Formats: sequence, C-alpha cells, structure tokens
Amino acid sequence: MAQLSPLLKQATPVLAERGEGVYLYDADGRRHLDFTAGIGVTNTGHCHPRVVEAAREQVGTLIHGQYTTVMHRPLLRLVEALGDVLPDGLDSLFFLNSGSEAVEASIRLARHATGRQNIVVFHGSFHGRTMGAAALTTAGTKFRAGIGPVMPGVAVTPFPQAYRYGWDEDEATRFALRELDYALATSSPASDTAAFVVEPVLGEGGYIPAPPAFLEGLRERADRHGILLIVDEVQTGYGRTGRFWGHQHSGISPDVLITAKGLASGFPLSAIAAPAALMEKAWPGSQGGTYGGNAVACAAALATLEVIRDENLVENAAVLGVRLNEGLRKVAADHPEIGDVRGLGLMQACEFSTPDGEPDTAAAQRAHRAAAEQGLLLLTCGAFGNVVRMIPPLVVDASQIDDALALWSAAVAGAAG
Ligand code: PMP
Repeated sequence: MAQLSPLLKQATPVLAERGEGVYLYDADGRRHLDFTAGIGVTNTGHCHPRVVEAAREQVGTLIHGQYTTVMHRPLLRLVEALGDVLPDGLDSLFFLNSGSEAVEASIRLARHATGRQNIVVFHGSFHGRTMGAAALTTAGTKFRAGIGPVMPGVAVTPFPQAYRYGWDEDEATRFALRELDYALATSSPASDTAAFVVEPVLGEGGYIPAPPAFLEGLRERADRHGILLIVDEVQTGYGRTGRFWGHQHSGISPDVLITAKGLASGFPLSAIAAPAALMEKAWPGSQGGTYGGNAVACAAALATLEVIRDENLVENAAVLGVRLNEGLRKVAADHPEIGDVRGLGLMQACEFSTPDGEPDTAAAQRAHRAAAEQGLLLLTCGAFGNVVRMIPPLVVDASQIDDALALWSAAVAGAAG
C-alpha cells in the first residue's frame, strides 16, 4: 500500500475538509482560524463565491488550452486586467505555474536580455526550491543543505536586517549597500551582473520589510551599471502589505516583477511582467511550459482581481494590518521573549529571542504549537525558525483580528508557563 512520503513536513496536524473565508474546518467539524492563508495565497479567503463560480464556469468550457499550442480568452483577458494593476511600463506578461518557475523565468530573461551571467541576491531571501531558484535562496539550512553544487554565478550580499544586527534601519541600509558595492567590485563585477533579485519584504527569511532607502539604493545602482532590478512579489503582491505591490512602499519601479501565490486564490498560476522592449531581447520559444497560463487558473485570477478591487482588500490590509501590529505589540509588552514585532499590512510577525538577543527557536515553536491547539493556525519563518508570522486572508475583519490576538495572547502565555 502506498503512503505519503516522509519528506513532507507539515506545520500543523490539521486535516482540512473545507475552507470558507478565514476559516478551515477539519474532519471533526472543528473550526480553525487560518492566519496562514495557504502561505499567503488565499487573499480572497477560502473558496470565495466569485472565484468558485468563475472557476466552475471555466471548467465546463475549456480546462487546458495549452498556450504554446493554442491561445484562449481567459489568458488574454487576464493580461488586460493585470495591465490595470501592474506598475507603469511593465506591459508584457509571461505565465507559468509556481513562484519558483517564475523566478527561473526571470533569470533566463535577465541573462538573455543583458548577455551577462551573474545574479546578486540578499542574505535571508527565499526565491524557491527548484535548483535555479534554490541557488538564489538563503533563507535557511533546509532549503540548501545537501543539494549542492547549486547554479553558479550567484553572489549573496547582506539584506538590511536591523533587528538582528542591533542597528537602526538607516545603519543597516548603509551597511547593506556598501557591501553590495563591494560585491560589484569584487565577487560579482558590475559588468558581469545581469540582475539583482530582491523581495520587498523578506518572507521565509523572517518577515523583514526592505527599508525604502535600500530598494532605492538598488534601483540607483541598477541604473548606473545596466543591471536589471527584479522584484520578487510572490508573497507581497495583491495587497498583502497594504499597498497593491510591496515595492510601492518605496519610490522604485522594477524592471521585472515576479508574481504568483495571491494571483489566482489557490489555483497554480504565476507570471513575470516586464517592459515589452526587455522581453523582446529574448526570443519566442525561449520560455514555456505545459501548464503555464492554465485556463481555469486564469479565470480564477480574473475573479480574484475583481474581488480585490470590489471589496477594497488592499485598504483592508492596510487598516487591519495596523490593528494586528498594535495588538501583537501589546502581547509582546508582557512577554520579553518576543523581541521584535514587525511587518507591513497583513504580513506581520513576532521574533522570539533569548535575553541576550539570540534566536529563541524553541520558544517560537512552542508558541506556534500552542496557537494551533487554540485553533489559530500560524506559520514560522526566519533562518532560525524563531519568527512566528501572521498572514490572514485579506478578507479578514476587525473582530477576526481581535479573535486571533486573544488566541495568540493565550498561546504565548501558555507556552511560556
Ligand atoms: N518567492 C517568494 C518570495 C516566496 O515567498 C515563494 C514561496 N514561499 C517563492 C518565491 C516560491 O514560490 P513557489 O512555492 O510557488 O514555487
């Protein structure tokens, strides 16, 4: 008899039978407040009726158009709809299935377009698990240990992790940009560097927002050296941070934007967006895939974009993000093991530290487990697994945020005792 591989590590013991809005229901009918949103995917909530309806209708019309064989309307309509929300100039889109694949596609494009090989990424970043994306990923041992050698041509320089360094944001930013300049003069000469790849908020690496001055420093260096700035919005897109795109907390615009997760409310779909003039530097057929731009996923994505707009989910994330952050700070005030509370919008986290400022992984894991026992599903992150993150669906309301905070407070108290 076959069984599920022991390679799978599951964050909670829940067997989910059904999802509705911000709740998951297990086989015993128990309700769980889902502040994981399927790792930041179900921004419109589980099974939003408009997304369900759009997908249901498409299933009966055309499931698999196969975009390298024939074109289909949901994909064309989605290109048009994304045109309304993408930053100016990013007017050319290519579709794939997952975040990792889109990251890989952006690297191919960057190499094709610049004729250069090297990619610079930032310590603690997560860009995926496929072998190319894994080469860009330094968010923790489990993503890298034992898989090498990974793709060459990748330089890793510091991300401004102010809390970890015990610095303020400006100091951390100055340090990170100086180290980047050093890398461009040494390990990855600017003339060999195709792209910087950066997350607007370090996600799996610990929910650390990139200071705007850091992103602006990258933009300036990219322009100066003819390097592409690739922004990985896989986790930060579609309102998650309280702006439509995470990078919009700064003044920059990317050369290539990578998107996935929240795009289709749980159907596998991802994309890269760039100016047409940049895409034209590669050639037709240089990218592709059997399932990219699946018709049902595209139909679900169209409904997702409408829900985000019609239900003001971006604004909801901004307003309730403040409420969540303030509530988490109140809990932290009674619990010195929570050394830092941070985030943007509904991408919030608590970092657990020992009294001398070292990562307290055990305390974070205890609190995470205790929360799950209370019916609040959360995820951990950070290189040391000592950060507990809260990523509710963006349809969450104020009373559900308060419920989560009450459960979190009880979980942290229980875990400490
Ligand atoms: N980039 C970022 C910023 C991510 O958060 C993730 C997934 N957590 C990925 C890329 C990879 O996406 P996927 O798991 O869909 O391959």
